[in-house]
Amino acid sequence: MKKVGIVGWRGMVGSVLLDRMFAEGDFAKIDPVFFSTSQAGQDGPTFDGKTFTLQDANDIKALSACDMIISCQGGDYTKAVHATLRENWDGYWIDAASTLRMEEGSVIVLDPVNRPVIDKAVTDGVKDFIGGNCTVSLALMGVGALFREDMVEWMSAMTYQAASGGGARHMKELLTQMDLIGKKSAPLMDGNILELDKTIGELLAANELPSENFGVPLALNLIPWIDSPLENGQTREEWKAQSETNKILGRESNPVPIDGTCVRVGVLRSHSQALTIKLKKPADIPAIERMLSEYSEWTEFVPNEVEVTRQKLNPRYVSGTLKVTVGRVRKMNLGDEYINVFTSGDQLLWGAAEPLRRMMNILL
Ligand code: NAP
Repeated sequence: MKKVGIVGWRGMVGSVLLDRMFAEGDFAKIDPVFFSTSQAGQDGPTFDGKTFTLQDANDIKALSACDMIISCQGGDYTKAVHATLRENWDGYWIDAASTLRMEEGSVIVLDPVNRPVIDKAVTDGVKDFIGGNCTVSLALMGVGALFREDMVEWMSAMTYQAASGGGARHMKELLTQMDLIGKKSAPLMDGNILELDKTIGELLAANELPSENFGVPLALNLIPWIDSPLENGQTREEWKAQSETNKILGRESNPVPIDGTCVRVGVLRSHSQALTIKLKKPADIPAIERMLSEYSEWTEFVPNEVEVTRQKLNPRYVSGTLKVTVGRVRKMNLGDEYINVFTSGDQLLWGAAEPLRRMMNILL
């Protein structure tokens, strides 16, 4: 059985990955080794009556003993170990972090969208398989059919990204903020609405809520900035939309322009995005709806109607599931070639953990 090292298993992405691997029986196919950067020697996960002792995730010799390594630890970790490990190791590296995504020798994995690209890479001897940015992967799971048919001239994505996109600590921070807001507002709920509004507004403005991770309160607020700044005014998260989409599709030499604004919102889990798509030809809405609904077994088309949209086109409906819903499909006033689309998906599943475990299975 192949020895598969798992690094970052107790983080947000890693926990979801383990959940999915249990659910799909993946551990029966591999000999797992669990690593930690901070808890080496301590107990790791227990299953089938066995508690795994955590290995040191910075021990190159221990890592080299694995046939495959799946890392959900983060970019700093990848930067710290990958190059040194590669000096004497020929195994497969499967990673959730962005560090290696745009390297020439790596492939971004999202097999329902780019299985031919992945298969060719395996045949060509590629060893680094990297999960895509969560919003990019979810957009492609939603509207991949339009890219497959080469119908898209350009796309703009305005995102609504959940707190858990930042990791476990960010989630806890949002919930703590909400708890404190709840406690402050509870005694005022029966009183004057302006009094309630003023009290909560002052609480937000006073920076009294814990916000070490987000920098400002995210509860009852939003932050139109994710990741580091680039010289052209984009954030790095915004830059990934065009660069990664085209790499996933294997069309870097003929890229589709994609841009937009990435916004963190006070949602716990699952990202949503409003897409403006300029088609190469005037839109045939019924044909587009059919293509979207038939694209993958996980893509769920939502008709442009109020009740079903309220129920399904949101984080509440998709969280914890592999469903990616896509709806609000309509022609825009901008012209015959312009369509509006909205899509929601769990960024921890198709946006992070799921492509990694599926890549492991492809390699096995
Ligand atoms: P995370 O929750 O912060 O976990 C990363 C590591 O932080 C853990 O493996 C753990 O390492 C350490 N850690 C320290 N305190 C912790 C705590 N209280 N609870 C859990 N872990 C704690 O990060 P993540 O969101 O899983 O992201 C991992 C990588 O995936 C990043 O590169 C990220 O960019 C990428 N990614 C994330 C998402 C997402 O939606 N979150 C989506 C796509 C890609 P030790 O056990 O070694 O201490």
